[in-house]
Amino acid sequence: MQIKTILNRIQKFKSFVYGAVRLVEGAPVPTLEVEIQPRSNSRPVCSGCGHKRPGYDRSPERLFEFIPMWGHKVFFRYAPRRVDCPCCGVRVEQMPWVSGKHRLTEAYSWYLAGWAKRLSWKEVAEAFRTTWDHVFCSVERAVIWGREHQDLSGVEAIGVDEIAWQRGHRYLTLVYQIDSHCKRLLWVGEKRTVRTLLRFFRWFGKEQSQALRFVCSDMWKPYLKVIARKAGNAIHILDRFHIMAHLSKAIDEVRAGEAKELKQKGYEPILTKTRWLLLKKPENLTETQDTKLSALLQYNLKSIRSYLLKEEFQLFWSYASPYWAGEFLDNWCTKTMRSKIEPMKKVARMLRRHRPLLLNWFRAKKQFSSGIVEGFNTKAKLTTRKAYGFRTYRAAEIALYHALGALPVPKTTHVFF
Ligand SMILES: [Zn+2]
Repeated sequence: MQIKTILNRIQKFKSFVYGAVRLVEGAPVPTLEVEIQPRSNSRPVCSGCGHKRPGYDRSPERLFEFIPMWGHKVFFRYAPRRVDCPCCGVRVEQMPWVSGKHRLTEAYSWYLAGWAKRLSWKEVAEAFRTTWDHVFCSVERAVIWGREHQDLSGVEAIGVDEIAWQRGHRYLTLVYQIDSHCKRLLWVGEKRTVRTLLRFFRWFGKEQSQALRFVCSDMWKPYLKVIARKAGNAIHILDRFHIMAHLSKAIDEVRAGEAKELKQKGYEPILTKTRWLLLKKPENLTETQDTKLSALLQYNLKSIRSYLLKEEFQLFWSYASPYWAGEFLDNWCTKTMRSKIEPMKKVARMLRRHRPLLLNWFRAKKQFSSGIVEGFNTKAKLTTRKAYGFRTYRAAEIALYHALGALPVPKTTHVFF
């Protein structure tokens, strides 16, 4: 059987035929070249308007990289025809195996993009003996196509989240769809300002924004402002994940300050290596950690009192009625304000300020667990942190859409992997 026969099975073109297949002598890696010829009597299609036009001349042969096979790089070799188009002028013809001026065929590009969902971009480049740029370019093409073809109808619930990006305080704003039937990343924007989120709503469209029923977010002021203005019909929920994250951050601050203070005063370093004891959920502690925590609880330390306040706050989420949850919240805040622990007081003040939005969680019947946003947040951090070699915002953005966007891919007759 000839290689041509296989090619005709996996990817047949109506107006073109595969010609000779040859091994390239002296190539740095084993390489196969497959000739392509236009079918006789077929007329070229103008790449500008997509109409069949009379031929003008032929440009020099070009190579288009196809999916490698048996340790061989595979290239299509073809001399594109130029058309004389009454609308577009002299133009190169449309070739079904490639789009635009790309060097990689569509099939190979989608193939690399597919692998880039499972491996890091660097690993894909190594595995297929190609460059990081080719992998990036393939993923970018997949993302652009996917975003042009995604269906945005029926989005009723969104979650707004942020992640720190690179070192320092640079942020990305992420908007997720969190409906029970569909969870995916919808949009990524640089920074976390009013303008960032306004850009999301502009992209999402007025009609769709008005149709939103639930929006989950953190207590970040710019977000609150924009959501109130642009998604007026939605119940705005401050989700559990973000609130507990504020408490964890406060505890961390108290613990670090106190550990330093104790050290300066020459006390036993009882707080060293306790960071995770105080941040982890009690049920996730190991037995040794559990023993250590019990010992620690005997000291009347600010860190410990903060920890107990946070644990107590967990009860808030178990209420069924917004009324009683509100009562609990007020009591907890009063108690925390009396604690004289500044980072905790700061959280209490913030919770007080957002009391109505906090209680919306109960009005929404708790149908949005913190797990959705939290899960996405973890995955997003992992995606940007992985050694993809992100130096630019564009690369981070593309990686996030590719990993979390659940984007559609074109239907093809043959599946290459
Ligand atoms: Zn044309």
